[in-house]
Amino acid sequence: MTDTRTFVVPFADLHAQYLGMQSAIDAAIAGVIRTSAFIRGPFVQKFEEEFASAIGAKHCISCANGTDSLYIALHALGLKPGDEVIVPALSWISTSATVTQAGGQVVFCDIEPSGFTIDPAGIEAKVTPRTVGIVPVHLYGHPADMDAIMAIAAKRGLWVLEDCAQAHLARFKRRNVGTFGVAASFSFYPGKNLGAMGDAGALLTNDADLARRMAMYARHGGLVKGDHQFEGINSRLDGMQAAILSAKLPHLAGWTARRQAIAAQYSCLLAGIPGLELPVVSAECEHVYHLYVVRHQRRDELTKYLAARGIQTVINYPMALPFLPAYRRLKHSPRDFPVAHRDQSRVLSLPMFPEITPEQIRIVCDAVRSFAAEAT
Ligand SMILES: *Cc1c(COP(=O)(O)O)cnc(C)c1O
Repeated sequence: MTDTRTFVVPFADLHAQYLGMQSAIDAAIAGVIRTSAFIRGPFVQKFEEEFASAIGAKHCISCANGTDSLYIALHALGLKPGDEVIVPALSWISTSATVTQAGGQVVFCDIEPSGFTIDPAGIEAKVTPRTVGIVPVHLYGHPADMDAIMAIAAKRGLWVLEDCAQAHLARFKRRNVGTFGVAASFSFYPGKNLGAMGDAGALLTNDADLARRMAMYARHGGLVKGDHQFEGINSRLDGMQAAILSAKLPHLAGWTARRQAIAAQYSCLLAGIPGLELPVVSAECEHVYHLYVVRHQRRDELTKYLAARGIQTVINYPMALPFLPAYRRLKHSPRDFPVAHRDQSRVLSLPMFPEITPEQIRIVCDAVRSFAAEAT
């Protein structure tokens, strides 16, 4: 990770968050060391209960990282060779790679023209007799259209697995994402809205039987030592990450409110800049701004211009999934996913973290404005 001190405005600043709650984090870590509860044990169980209740689900199964949580869920849902799973064309590769790894076939669907989540209007055309499920991603922290997606799933008899890696506490119609599908996957990668100090992930579900199968698969195929009902994998949250996450969880709502206030300030200061498209929030959605993503025709020039002024930005993602070398076998062309293809050369994520100062936001916005002015 880059040293944030070399930037006027870093993209994120994990150390600032630590400094804001140093004694609680240090005490959490010391507590795990004192009791040697390194793997599973009371800290893991406590966090599982707290996280399930924070989102509003009955069961939480923690695991080693967000990617594993997708893989574990897909496996427990009984994916068979040839089964097709519909995923959005724009996401982090975990969303699609885990479908393949769990034995299924990835079927990409384009994203909405104005937002960045899977376009429900495109899903039905992708359903075949072999389709078993849909994995919507609440990308950047904006909920996918869960009404439309759940309606299609019900009509076609498909399951829905929500990828909530970027959307802790995001809400659709006043209900937390992660409570719509049969199961939901979360990542606590350090840079996520709720981040551990290492890798961590979890699954949520209200289905007791699915919860049991997911927990068994994550724990060598059995919940009691020595009992192996089938060959599972080893994917577990460790006690230190769990204790750190428990210390951070009470702050999540406040950090989320900060992200929303920062986004509001950005959107106010960036309004009316020619050529710049700001993120839009769909009706009845609460965006939690894991990322604040703008679109610009000359994105690469804008990126360089900001970098020259000490402003660190990131491109999420420089290539939509169907066009990656990893999916060359599917032989997709840009016209298969026109929106995702258009966006991959236009999206730019501006600095976004709860501790960013109003002055830093102003520096970013002034630079974006002067780029637009110099260019015209
Ligand atoms: C971060 C992320 C994941 C994977 O999480 P890891 O904890 O990094 O394995 C999956 N899907 C999306 C959309 C993500 O952003």
